[in-house]
Amino acid sequence: MGGLTTLGVACGPVAPTSTASAAPPKRPDPFRLGVASGDPRPDGMVLWTRLAPRPLAEDGLGGMGRAPVEVRWQLASDARFRHIVRQGTATARPSGGFAVHVEPSGLEPGREYFYRFRAQGHLSPTGRTRTAPARGALTPMTFAAASCSHYEHGYFTAYRRMAAQDPDLVLHLGDYLYEYAPGSYSGTNGVVRRHTEGKCQTLTDYRRRHAQYKSDPDLRAAHAAAPWAVIWDDHELEDNWTGSTPGSKVPGFSARKKAAMRAYYENMPLRASSRPSGTKLQLFRGLSWGALASFHLLDTRQYRTDQPCDDWMRTGCDSRTDPSHRVLGARQLKWLESGLRASGARWDVLAQQIFLARRDYALGPAVEVGMDSWDGYAAERDRLFDAVLRSGARNPVVLTGDVHTAYASDLLRDFDDPASARVGVELVATSIASDGDGYRDRSVNAVLLQENPHFALMDQRRGYIIGRLTSESLTADFHTLEYVSRRGAPARRTARFVVPDGARSLAR
Ligand code: FE
Ligand code: CA
Repeated sequence: MGGLTTLGVACGPVAPTSTASAAPPKRPDPFRLGVASGDPRPDGMVLWTRLAPRPLAEDGLGGMGRAPVEVRWQLASDARFRHIVRQGTATARPSGGFAVHVEPSGLEPGREYFYRFRAQGHLSPTGRTRTAPARGALTPMTFAAASCSHYEHGYFTAYRRMAAQDPDLVLHLGDYLYEYAPGSYSGTNGVVRRHTEGKCQTLTDYRRRHAQYKSDPDLRAAHAAAPWAVIWDDHELEDNWTGSTPGSKVPGFSARKKAAMRAYYENMPLRASSRPSGTKLQLFRGLSWGALASFHLLDTRQYRTDQPCDDWMRTGCDSRTDPSHRVLGARQLKWLESGLRASGARWDVLAQQIFLARRDYALGPAVEVGMDSWDGYAAERDRLFDAVLRSGARNPVVLTGDVHTAYASDLLRDFDDPASARVGVELVATSIASDGDGYRDRSVNAVLLQENPHFALMDQRRGYIIGRLTSESLTADFHTLEYVSRRGAPARRTARFVVPDGARSLAR
């Protein structure tokens, strides 16, 4: 915790060190989008920055012009860089949006590292990162889960509060940014601050939107504090898209997909193995955390069939049980099942986007469910649950985003039968900012909690989840902010659930 307050807010110019040039820099600071790290392994991680002295420059290239720029990077075992363990040079090019992704390897497992970049006479802020523990280690770990940060709906205070909890790993579950034109989707507090112009359609649009989000100091602080593992939902491209089906009627979906994927990679601490090729982005992947945890990062957009019966809530949509409808797709589901079988970890954490437990909105025997959730793909949910049960995974935990509401739920093989097999637990992270301060009317909560007895929590305020994994239990703390329409809200722990090893169920 000691270094965090100074590291986390280090986003302005950094005082020159003894090794920096003594002459005043001629160029403006190119590190205004901060630094990030991600996808830790026992021997390394990816380090990221993107040069942009003028983040919102019209051409999407951050005021960098057209010439490639050499970027020096350093990784040290201490925050003052007295013990540099790796260093090198990477080239930031206009074709890559002047982003830099470096993958140092051969590092020691289970330890903290510090990194920084240098370019054009400037030193970047310092980031803190870590390697995953060695194979077999059962060292306790803390993860954070975050989702849905609509820039116009509120300030990103929740990101800063989350970083202050000192997580070993941040899981971002999607809707990292929103593609909407300014003012076209209002939260409960209207538009608190405005998006860059237009709905994102071109590579330039997406690059500028990413730059606008990364210009937020709270988001930069959260990236600088810990390695992230990111997966996307729909808004990184456009609302409600699936597979090859556009979410909007605007022509040119394939070009938008390509542009959104490229900008996403450029702006995220992803490994080269997740560099997009045309309209393909390899985002589903696994991360091992010793013998304690395996993280299975899923992509529930790219291989999904279109939402049945329109995209939103319905009663009596027969095709929601159609076995040909897919969320993960056959290849990803097979990959997941073999990953679960091979894991052997105490905890198997499935990080994904859309609501998994059944969520029935209609009081009484009628069933009214959302189609942009696993309820719209009931046969695929059965396949997923069977795969999880067959795999012998010891403690399955599902992390979900998307719905701008915190939930905790038991996952039952058959939601109509309280005695059916426990598949695991689902923890749903509310939004960081999307929908603004939240809803005062709690009447919908009462209906949902009554109709869905597997739910243990529902809370429509902003926040994030902090999960503590040990060999004995998972402790999930839900942290809540009362407002995001103004800066500076404190975060309070408003709920805690403990899942003992082997229980596959929330203790309540
Ligand atoms: Fe969202
Ligand atoms: Ca009902």
